[in-house]
Amino acid sequence: MQQHQLCILGSTGSIGESTLDIVRRHPERFTVISMSANSRVENMLAQCIEFKPQYVVMGCQETATKLSTLLVENGIANIDVSYGEQALCDIASSDQVDTVMAAIVGSSGLMPTLSAVKTGKRVLLANKESLVTSGQIFIDAVKASGAKLLPIDSEHNAIFQCLPEFEQHRPGECQLADNGISKILLTGSGGPFRTKPVSELADVTPEQAVAHPNWDMGKKISVDSATMMNKGLEFIEAKWLFNVEPSQIQVVLHPQSTIHSMVQYKDGSVIAQMGNPDMRTPIAHAMAYPERIDAGVEPLDFFNTKPFEFEAVDFERYPNLKLAIDACSQGQAACTALNAANEIAVEAFLNYQIKFTDIFRINELSVQQFVSQQVTTIDDVISLDANVRVYAKDQLAKLMESE
Ligand code: NAD
Ligand code: MG
Repeated sequence: MQQHQLCILGSTGSIGESTLDIVRRHPERFTVISMSANSRVENMLAQCIEFKPQYVVMGCQETATKLSTLLVENGIANIDVSYGEQALCDIASSDQVDTVMAAIVGSSGLMPTLSAVKTGKRVLLANKESLVTSGQIFIDAVKASGAKLLPIDSEHNAIFQCLPEFEQHRPGECQLADNGISKILLTGSGGPFRTKPVSELADVTPEQAVAHPNWDMGKKISVDSATMMNKGLEFIEAKWLFNVEPSQIQVVLHPQSTIHSMVQYKDGSVIAQMGNPDMRTPIAHAMAYPERIDAGVEPLDFFNTKPFEFEAVDFERYPNLKLAIDACSQGQAACTALNAANEIAVEAFLNYQIKFTDIFRINELSVQQFVSQQVTTIDDVISLDANVRVYAKDQLAKLMESE
């Protein structure tokens, strides 16, 4: 049995909580050395009491001070509490940990995840935005350090499980054609608005958008699932993780979310990974890899499961997905710009500032504006990300004035 020393970036989120549930079930395998959260002090306090980490990083000085006070009040004196991005990078790269769960949402996860990659950790990658935003730079860092990348995103974890074992050991450098693989079939449920008339999409509320039919997730990724930007980000993520051309990835709508993705071989075989939609399955798979452990997930009951359905994607309903697939071929600037604009637009939608359909308008304008920029270094990524955010906020302000 392998034992792992864990750093959990984003422990209070949906993925973070599921990760801790796996730790709870297997205390002999996993020790939590460090955890981080942005603002949820009470949640973090409860996690500290239960998991007794040595280091905790919060989003700002105020939340760090609040947590420290609460820890003392609860008789806990031996946890080192700090805050901010450098502290996140420090816990992710510390010699005391061998495994980092990268589960911060958005491009705030980029630098801490890269720190873990550069120091050769086993990196359990939930934070797809960091790979979308830095692509080749991220993969080059994996190759240079020998970090072990294990996908947490259910689709990529499924694809990973359907690959020959040899290829599982070299994400970013896979040679799928050499293994007789012709295509990756990326499944997506289509989100809560798959059957809603397209003309009514402008009026959907944040509450409706975050109510995903199959998965229980954080708010940002839930809105991304409703626009299918999530599938777009995953399309780009798949290109980098499995070293494939966009033409070798096909999105397949599968409303039941039972098949989590598939790999098509040239002899006609299609290998699928399936299960009930519960993120603890891919999380447990990656945490214990190459061993298998109990994840607390009910096995599929084939006699009481809904019939499997499949559909082609309607890009009129999901224009953000088309934008992302195009960005994947256009290059890094388009992908970085799309991700940054989308974070701004989704936040504005969740704050009732813009309509659901305006997310696409902001995203499209931002990609057009920045598509031809050069992005070769991490500094290029960071400055482009910042510039896009300013531009997207300007466009938001204009939209809000005109509506
Ligand atoms: P969430 O909103 O539930 O949690 C996000 C976590 O990140 C929280 O712990 C929060 O404190 C932390 N955080 C937020 N902003 C931060 C900042 N600026 N600095 C530092 N920490 C910050 O999100 P989630 O659903 O758990 O998703 C996390 C990541 O996993 C995302 O990248 C998402 O795309 C990916 N993912 C999630 C799921 C899922 O089922 N939830 C599935 C696949 C991939
Ligand atoms: Mg996914």
